[in-house]
Amino acid sequence: MPSFSYTITAATGDPRFLRAGIIRTPHGDIETPTFVPVGTKAAMKALTVDMMRDLRAQAILANAYHLYIQPGHKLVEKAGGLSEFMAWHGPTFTDSGGFQVLSLGSGYKKVVSMVSDEAVIAEKSTRRAFVDDDGVNFKSHRDGTMHRFTPEVSMEIQHALGADICFAFDELTSLADTPDYHYEALERTHRWAVRSLRHFRKLQSQNPAKPYQALFGVMQGANIESLRRKTAKYLGGMEFDGFGIGGAIEKRLLGDIVRWTTEELPIDKPKHLLGISAPNDIFEGVEAGIDTFDCVAPTREARNGAIYTGDGRYNLKNICYREDFTPLEQGCQCLVCQTYTKAYVHHLFRSKEILAATLTSYHNEYFTLRLVDGIREAIKANTFEAYKKDFYKRFYRSSA
Ligand SMILES: [Zn+2]
Repeated sequence: MPSFSYTITAATGDPRFLRAGIIRTPHGDIETPTFVPVGTKAAMKALTVDMMRDLRAQAILANAYHLYIQPGHKLVEKAGGLSEFMAWHGPTFTDSGGFQVLSLGSGYKKVVSMVSDEAVIAEKSTRRAFVDDDGVNFKSHRDGTMHRFTPEVSMEIQHALGADICFAFDELTSLADTPDYHYEALERTHRWAVRSLRHFRKLQSQNPAKPYQALFGVMQGANIESLRRKTAKYLGGMEFDGFGIGGAIEKRLLGDIVRWTTEELPIDKPKHLLGISAPNDIFEGVEAGIDTFDCVAPTREARNGAIYTGDGRYNLKNICYREDFTPLEQGCQCLVCQTYTKAYVHHLFRSKEILAATLTSYHNEYFTLRLVDGIREAIKANTFEAYKKDFYKRFYRSSA
């Protein structure tokens, strides 16, 4: 009997869309909708797992590609799995490595944004990944050695890492690709989904003592409605435990794209939107039926000095905060805002103290986690529209 399940506990209208629920995993329950902070290499950048518990994060997502490169998935398995290795002891997710491996093809160190119109191929970068029908050959970002990922390899890595929720191996395409290429890639992703599921279940049956790991199918299809619906129907008919929506997404179409897929997917399985954390994207995702989100942005942007607040974002490195002795965000209940001032953290940035990254990351994760907690509570209380309206009025007042 798998110790993984998803139950809808509240919904506003059609429960395919705006809903609250509980995902049960062997490492604990996750109340949804929720935001899942990203600790790419089994570490939250600048934050300890004690801080993550303090922040009431419910799960952490790490990356299969990075852990395969270093320290190696077998070592993590020896440690007792990802959760034990990083001393987190709560639910964990791993993504398949498809995004990282394929984004190497467009030039490493260039973020292939899922939500922006940025050029996809980085300047002065060389192509490092090559796709064939069976898998992907790529050069390690670390030492340039050649590696090969296939659906089976990704499943073996994720099985060894032991996260509660894993993702099928998929081919990431970009908005720069032609419709013909998207079609071809989607067909390949479908074949990879079949292979991922088959191989993952085989590994599970060979290791029956290991806690149950859920496998989510991953949807691609860029911004093409027919492809998004087709892949949702196809993967929706398979025995996945849930679904991840990824790939090239034009930001203005995000809500539509999610809805095209959730309309076709089974209602009673959880849906995860990969790599998204901008507040309006979270609102639109939830309204279209998303249960969980992950993104590196709250910590990455924090390290650059960007502070999230209910009234929008600002950059703490700006000289105007040099003598500002108010909290990072007025009224914020987080430990950092209860303790430190803008002037102090501004000073930490100016003097290149690494504490700056810890304090700002802590606040941004707090902000993002509480935003989605608020959405969940509003769905339960049937006050989602009012919550959204209040949030937009303050956060987007200048741009809305
Ligand atoms: Zn705060």
